[in-house]
Amino acid sequence: MLIAELLIFYSCIIDVEGIYTYKYLIPLQVQNKQKYMPRWNNAKVIDVQDWTKEHRRIFLEVDPNIDLAFVPGQFITFDLPIGEKRLERWRSYSIANQLENNIIELCIVKVPNGRASKYLFEHINIGEELVFKGPSGTFILPQDHSLNLVLICTGTGVAPFRSMINHIFSTQIPFPKIDLIFGTKYKKSILYKEEFDALCSIHDNFNYHVALSREPYLGYQGYVHELYEKLPTIENTLYMLCGWQYMIDEAVQNLTQNQGIDRSKVVYELYG
Ligand SMILES: Cc1cc2nc3c(=O)[nH]c(=O)nc-3n(C[C@H](O)[C@H](O)[C@H](O)COP(=O)(O)OP(=O)(O)OC[C@H]3O[C@@H](n4cnc5c(N)ncnc54)[C@H](O)[C@@H]3O)c2cc1C
Repeated sequence: MLIAELLIFYSCIIDVEGIYTYKYLIPLQVQNKQKYMPRWNNAKVIDVQDWTKEHRRIFLEVDPNIDLAFVPGQFITFDLPIGEKRLERWRSYSIANQLENNIIELCIVKVPNGRASKYLFEHINIGEELVFKGPSGTFILPQDHSLNLVLICTGTGVAPFRSMINHIFSTQIPFPKIDLIFGTKYKKSILYKEEFDALCSIHDNFNYHVALSREPYLGYQGYVHELYEKLPTIENTLYMLCGWQYMIDEAVQNLTQNQGIDRSKVVYELYG
């Protein structure tokens, strides 16, 4: 095995905050970028758009001279003025766009009694500067482009997939089949629906499935689980999941135990 391959398999990174971490199976491309990740930068709020009372898009502008070294699927971490201790103040949010011109798009849900989301809904104004580090994270597209992708998410868990999907089609990555399965409660909170419908009508290899738990949609009402369970299980498929624990736990169990998918073919980004 070449030294470079060994480095991909077992590699240590000591970042500038002294955190010593082993990265397993993370492409060198991402590792190299992450060595510089913990630097804090400022981002200016340039637009805020509300879909519903609980879902909003926030657009941030970062100095174009800063190389953000973004890989679709990654997130940024804010240091928000909402607490004394570091862990009380830090919150991560997936980047929902391809980060063109250092404009970051976030897609945020307001959590009942949530301190960070309350701040991001009630206390930020256009022109305000927020402090963040990143992008970082290893929830990114596989390097093997012969894989089929099943992308499963609930609510704002769609954010990293929007970034990945736009990247796939704008750079023509030849994944044979991509299924996006999105779950939410109501029609009004189907995020980015028009965009995904449009991509579906252009690309034969892209399918978009929506599950609404609180009202019927296209003759169906229920959870994401019933939708991916209905897909034919095809060899050579990677299942990528994003959202909160209740959905991820159930999906990992269903896929690996009920559907017999190898655990190595199921990866996820856990929001909390
Ligand atoms: C890598 C990563 C990426 C993330 N990306 C996004 C993103 O793109 N968009 C986004 O909206 N969030 C995202 N999150 C979640 C985000 O970081 C915060 O956890 C979330 O905004 C809640 O923070 P809070 O301070 O408002 O709530 P907290 O004060 O931390 O929590 C309040 C309570 O609500 C519970 N809770 C938190 N979130 C939910 C939820 N959605 N539903 C039900 N209960 C909940 C908590 O368990 C806690 O009991 C991401 C998290 C991670 C780790």
